[in-house]
Amino acid sequence: MHIVQVAAELAPVAKVGGLGDVVLGLSRELQRQGSRVEVIIPKYDIIEYEGVDDLAVIDDTLTTTYDGKVYSNTVWSGRVLGVPVFFIEPHHPADFFQRGCFYACPDDIDRFLYFSLAALDFIQRRGALPDIIHNHDWHTAVLGPLCRCLCPRRHQPAAPCPTRLVFTVHNVQYQGLCSAHDLEKVGLNSSKLPTTNDLFDDHRPGIVNLVKGGIAYADFITTVSPRHAHEVMTTEGGLGLDATFRQYRDKFIGILNGLDYGYWNPATDPYLPANFSSSTDDKDGNPLSNKGLCKEALRQRTKLADGHRPIVACIARLVPQKGIELIKHAIDHTVALGGQFVLLGSSPIPEIDKEFHRILEATADNPHVFLILQHFEDLAHLIFAGSDMFIVPSVFEPCGLTQLIALRHGTIPIVRHTGGLADTIVDVDDPAHPFEKSNGFVFDDLETQSFDGAIDRAFKLWFQQPEKWRQLVINGMNMDFSWKESAKQYLDVYRKTLQTPRQRDKKEVRKTKKEEERETRQGTSGSALARLALAPSLQKTPHFAGVTPLS
Ligand code: ADP
Repeated sequence: MHIVQVAAELAPVAKVGGLGDVVLGLSRELQRQGSRVEVIIPKYDIIEYEGVDDLAVIDDTLTTTYDGKVYSNTVWSGRVLGVPVFFIEPHHPADFFQRGCFYACPDDIDRFLYFSLAALDFIQRRGALPDIIHNHDWHTAVLGPLCRCLCPRRHQPAAPCPTRLVFTVHNVQYQGLCSAHDLEKVGLNSSKLPTTNDLFDDHRPGIVNLVKGGIAYADFITTVSPRHAHEVMTTEGGLGLDATFRQYRDKFIGILNGLDYGYWNPATDPYLPANFSSSTDDKDGNPLSNKGLCKEALRQRTKLADGHRPIVACIARLVPQKGIELIKHAIDHTVALGGQFVLLGSSPIPEIDKEFHRILEATADNPHVFLILQHFEDLAHLIFAGSDMFIVPSVFEPCGLTQLIALRHGTIPIVRHTGGLADTIVDVDDPAHPFEKSNGFVFDDLETQSFDGAIDRAFKLWFQQPEKWRQLVINGMNMDFSWKESAKQYLDVYRKTLQTPRQRDKKEVRKTKKEEERETRQGTSGSALARLALAPSLQKTPHFAGVTPLS
């Protein structure tokens, strides 16, 4: 099967959070299981190019029509950890991906609409269409409606499009809100559609919701854990898209994210000063006792004091979803209990960023606290390996990878019972499970009392029952959260979509024929878009200013 993943991130060369990890890990496992996989991402100026092999220009003549004007692009190819990748570099005066950042630009909507359209132009230009286009999150959600133009209907009006589109919603909070005029820029004429249409937000009249469109037009939709799939169909968890998820529940499932065990492997990780596994045999090349050397190295790098104290870690994007108040609270609580705290995080939100910088200054002389407010891949590896406990007190968490990475490194997660955290972490004291099946500590409420209860239990076990703690570490390290099973589930989804005729194809083809007849009469024949007609004039309409896009 030939699968093309189109996404905004790819670990480790262009990564902000879990999206990048998932695109890499899923691609590598699909390759291992026999599929041909390629990834398309923007050519950001801040890509870590030393991680890209065989980088070369493969196409200098790709053009994209955006907002009525034709722009050229350079397409580069390379390999990231064995995965073939295409990098799209637009030659647009706005220099969309030359900003020294991945996201958080005021024109993010333009940047990723353009990228999605150019990626599709590239896919079409290459000739043989892939079996599956797998797009991810709001950045590439517009591929759903756009993909209706994949079928070269001008030449074969009756042929249904062979490519199927699978859309994964990693984080429903970011929905890609924009205006109808933004859609026109990629050639989708929303003025021909009623506002109740699949592309328009349910709660903000006249506002386009790209993720809603992505869901409606995809052949299949997934989210990143089974529990989160249920959560997004509720009013509380759907963040305005619950009705859409319910409407399309027949083509929607939750597949638990896996971890790339080749990349996240303490037994081989080149970032670590000492490698270790769950083996308690010290004659083994990489015994568990080497985890202690990583703890020492972590203390040296972070200037934490030596001593018999557990290190509690947190690595996160510092956004409200991650439970900011609880993270702040955990710093003080850990120190009060005789532990040490390490935080690695960065925030795109200025107030939160400021608040953590204030804490950083206030704790600068504390030998038991270390905060670093940037993105550091190598330090993240050392923290996962050298810590004892790892907190994830999220308000909501679609899957969460950090608790799985922590487990892999023998670092015990303390997590809130939500989303993928609830699907993966079994509390030590859960009476429904034997100790061998447990791997962490879980709390329910977003209150400090509830959180403290879990931290206190973890500290008690670490200080008072070191043998049991060690066994808990081994339990977690030996559990399988690799991509193996999850990639099989994705393959099942891909196969299912390829075997299921599109409900909409017939209707669309009829519509297209009618449209083409009309366009021929009007002398505008040549539109490849079927379901949504090409914007006739791409005339300037003011950008909708009343809404700050969530994206
Ligand atoms: P999300 O995708 O919501 O950010 P996940 O838990 O799914 O959360 O994935 C987060 C990923 O990003 C993990 O691989 C984590 O190690 C990484 N990460 C987050 N913040 C940083 C940082 N400041 N430096 C290095 N890696 C980070």
